[in-house]
Amino acid sequence: MAKQKTTVENPYVPKPYKILEFHRETSDSFTVKADMKINHDPGQFVQVGLPGVGECPISICSDSREFIQLNIREVGNVTTALSKLEQGDTILIRGPYGKGYPMRYLKGNSLLIIGGGCGVAPLKGIIDYAENHRGDYKKLSLLLGYRSPDDILFQRELVEWKNKYHLQVTVDKNTHGKFCYGAREGFVTDALKSMDISNNNQAAFVCGPPIMMKFVIKSLKDKGFNDDQIFLSTERLMYCALGVCCHCMIKGKFTCVDGPVFRYDEIKDLEDG
Ligand SMILES: Cc1cc2nc3c(=O)[nH]c(=O)nc-3n(C[C@H](O)[C@H](O)[C@H](O)COP(=O)(O)OP(=O)(O)OC[C@H]3O[C@@H](n4cnc5c(N)ncnc54)[C@H](O)[C@@H]3O)c2cc1C
Repeated sequence: MAKQKTTVENPYVPKPYKILEFHRETSDSFTVKADMKINHDPGQFVQVGLPGVGECPISICSDSREFIQLNIREVGNVTTALSKLEQGDTILIRGPYGKGYPMRYLKGNSLLIIGGGCGVAPLKGIIDYAENHRGDYKKLSLLLGYRSPDDILFQRELVEWKNKYHLQVTVDKNTHGKFCYGAREGFVTDALKSMDISNNNQAAFVCGPPIMMKFVIKSLKDKGFNDDQIFLSTERLMYCALGVCCHCMIKGKFTCVDGPVFRYDEIKDLEDG
C-alpha cells in the first residue's frame, strides 16, 4: 500500500513577508505594516527576524481584519537591524503566539486602556479590535503616558482616538512648552487618580514599565476594581515562543504560551511580580 504523504510544518521556520509601509514614530521606534493577514487576538505576538541576524518577539498592534502592524523600539541587535529596512523589503515572521486579551468574554463592558511608553503597542491592538467590533463594547477610555512629547507613539491615530474616545495623554516632562493632543504633564497614574470611574461593567488593560504597572494596579484597586477585571501584558526574555526554551518561565508559567496576557489574579502572587 502506498504510504500517504504528510507535511508537518516546522513551527520554528518563519515565512517571508513584504513590508508594505515603514513609518517612523519617534527617534527610536517605528511601525511596520507587512503583507500578512492572520487570525489573532489582540495581545498576541509574533517572532520577527532577519536572516543572519536573529529574531525577537513583537506584539501585534493591529486587528486581524487588517494587514499586520508591528511597533518596534530599537534596543539591540535585531531591532536595530529591523529599523534599517524600507518599504518593499522582506522580513521573516512566525506566529501568532501566546494568549491574548479575552475580548469575546468581555463583550458588554466598557474598556479602560492604560499604557506607558512602548507598552501602548499591544494595547493599540485592543483599540483597533474594539473599533471593528464597536457594538460589542460600551465606552473606551485611553490613558496613555510617555516620557516627553517626542516619545508619543501613534500620533497619526491620536486625532481619531481623541474624537471617538475618552483620551488623556500624559508626559512626564513637557520639554516643548506646548501640549499636543491635549497632553498634560504628570504620570499616567495621576490621570487615572483624577478620573471619575467605577469598576461597574469595566475591564482594565495595563501595559508599560513594571513600576508604572504596579502603581496603576494600586490605583485601580483603590477605585474598586477586582483582580479579575484587570488584564496585564507581560514581557520576558524568550527565544522559542513555544514553551520549550523555558527562558520566559515564572514559577511554572510560561510567558510565551500561558501569557503574555494574564488576568491579574492569575499572576499577582508570583514572586517577581
Ligand atoms: C511577548 C513580548 C512582546 C513584545 N512586544 C514588543 C513590541 O511590540 N515592541 C517592541 O519594541 N518590543 C517588544 N518586545 C521586546 C522585544 O522582544 C525586545 O526588545 C527584543 O527582543 C530586543 O531584541 P534585540 O535583538 O534588538 O536586542 P538584544 O540585543 O537581544 O537585547 C538588548 C537588551 O535588551 C535585553 N532584552 C531583550 N529582550 C528583552 C525582554 N523581553 N525583556 C527584558 N530584557 C530584554 C537584552 O538582555 C539586552 O540587555 C516584546 C517582548 C515580549 C516577550
